[in-house]
Amino acid sequence: MRILLIGPPGAGKGTQAVRLASRLSIQHISAGDLFREHIDQGTELGRNARTHISSGRLVPDGITIGVLAERLGRPDTERGFLLDGFPRNIPQAEALDGILADSGSGLDAVLDLEIPEAEVVGRIAGRRLCRRNREHIFHVDHSPPEVAGACDVCGGELYQRDDDREATVRRRLEIHRSETAPVVGHYRAAGLVSTISALGQVQEVLDRALLAIGQGQGRVDASGTSRR
Ligand code: AMP
Repeated sequence: MRILLIGPPGAGKGTQAVRLASRLSIQHISAGDLFREHIDQGTELGRNARTHISSGRLVPDGITIGVLAERLGRPDTERGFLLDGFPRNIPQAEALDGILADSGSGLDAVLDLEIPEAEVVGRIAGRRLCRRNREHIFHVDHSPPEVAGACDVCGGELYQRDDDREATVRRRLEIHRSETAPVVGHYRAAGLVSTISALGQVQEVLDRALLAIGQGQGRVDASGTSRR
């Protein structure tokens, strides 16, 4: 399957993306993680991306589309992928459509995670990531590690992203509203979008997502899901 996961910062995209990709045996491709890898490696692209990321703005399309096109061209995506955080504006969506058309494929589903903005700041303020593996994500209140400050999975040190500060989060929310929300409309026209409530426990949201893409176990009702 080829799936897009869209949602504002703090909706739990990363948390759900890891679980969905694992359940569906497809590659999880996070645009933010690809940039953070470049930053860690100290590449020129990473230095450039960092100035945009730390101020809560989007990395320019020319850079972003190049990074994602390269990643989507690797053989491990042939069995499918879950794109987390790309596309984030209409030009990126059009570029993605072109990349997929060139390879003779297309998207199967777009999952749109919905969350009240009032929830977002608190969720992000408590978010902690593992330094050894950014796919290990915790929250000081909602999914705390067993030992404070340490990853349950590998023992790595937990840290807070520097773009998770409140002023930066507010700018990211504004960009989501103005640039990323129209991407949902772009795919709605093709009948691909399921809007899912991101409220509730991690497992509940995962169940809703699986149900929306026809991979559910019938264990939950679809009250948090709507196809519009
Ligand atoms: P995320 O990990 O998805 O929250 O992304 C972290 C940051 O990386 C975003 O706030 C942007 O600065 C940058 N970023 C991630 N995905 C994109 C994208 N598709 N286009 C431009 N910038 C992006």
